Amino acid sequence: MKQLNRNTFDEVMVPNYNPSSVVPVRGAGCQVWDSEGRQYLDLAGGIAVNGLGHCHPELVKVLKEQSEILWHLSNVWTNEPALELATKLVDKTFADKIFFSNSGGEANEAAFKLARKYGHDHFGSEKNEIISFVNAFHGRTLFTVSVGGQPKYTQGFEPLPGGLTHLPYNDLQALEQAMSDKTCAVVMEPIIAEGGIINATDEFAKGVRELCDKYNALLVFDEVQTGMGRTGDLYAYMGLGVTPDILTSAKALGGGFPIGAMLTTTKIANSFGIGTHGSTYGGNPLACAVASKVLDIIANDDFLADVKSKRALFESHLQRINERFQVFEEIRGKGLLIGCALVPEWHGKARAFLDAAMNQGLMVLVAGLNVIRLAPPLIISEDEISEAMARFEKAVESVITTA
Ligand code: PLP
Repeated sequence: MKQLNRNTFDEVMVPNYNPSSVVPVRGAGCQVWDSEGRQYLDLAGGIAVNGLGHCHPELVKVLKEQSEILWHLSNVWTNEPALELATKLVDKTFADKIFFSNSGGEANEAAFKLARKYGHDHFGSEKNEIISFVNAFHGRTLFTVSVGGQPKYTQGFEPLPGGLTHLPYNDLQALEQAMSDKTCAVVMEPIIAEGGIINATDEFAKGVRELCDKYNALLVFDEVQTGMGRTGDLYAYMGLGVTPDILTSAKALGGGFPIGAMLTTTKIANSFGIGTHGSTYGGNPLACAVASKVLDIIANDDFLADVKSKRALFESHLQRINERFQVFEEIRGKGLLIGCALVPEWHGKARAFLDAAMNQGLMVLVAGLNVIRLAPPLIISEDEISEAMARFEKAVESVITTA
């Protein structure tokens, strides 16, 4: 076979991504190596997926073991890893019932369909409006991208599903004015992630819950990015003290093995009767076995307390860097979902920092044009944080000096 490199991507892949010229070939913990043997520290974590880093030995062991037992059945039969994972999720959260999917978008698709169905079943077909928020991101299926609040992702895909309203985030008054008996669900990320790392205020989250109760609307928390320990709680709702009716989880749930889940209560779950929704792969034994182990490791008080203290360490490094360069207006997010919001002078240039970081052997992310996003593996050590921040400091310096 001919040599494979970044050019091969342009030759054989649909051009909907623009990957870096670096092609990673191996990962271990928080480190990644490219095809030329160069080492990188990974503060991208596969976009908040590799919560336990790359090739975590316990996950590798479970995956190997399960691969010799049972790979796939479909949902014509259930399987023990799926039952075990669902039981653990029920034990550790508000939920009574679980639906498995393969991705975050699919978990949200299920959530939005369930919210509509529940509205129809209990209040009639007029109760179908879904309210969501500007800059939110919920996936790339036509329904989820339409519920998301970023027109750049829906343009050209019209006609879009109807019955959707987008409001400014953290604006309780706007929500109060928009809600009515027709509202079947309010959908929110506890921290808007892709759209710029914007934390919900406590007041907003509590207010949304109260308004949902007032109008018999379901509160859907998209915890695809904030879930599985990312914020220092197993799920962000636990830290906010606001319990949703439906929660979606994916990304770090499988630690890099594709899986998604929708969590809800028995009463709501009952609106999905036999045959109303489904997935061939959802609840796949390989994915569920891995996710079960991920959950065992992350749903642990000491592990979660560590995430919070690592946040403090990152913040102190970032503040020190900012004292030198004054590039950040604010450090946002929670736990190890970190948003470095650029000062207006640097707006539109987040990508330049990402590129400079790669040159320093550091993988970071952006969240829109104005925010540098860090979503490192939750297992990152203090030494790795210091080394990563030293590389980041050099990256920031190189952007400033070449501007
Ligand atoms: N919801 C949120 C909050 C996300 O951040 C993402 C992905 O970035 C998704 C949903 C979509 O998940 P997936 O790409 O697994 O479909």
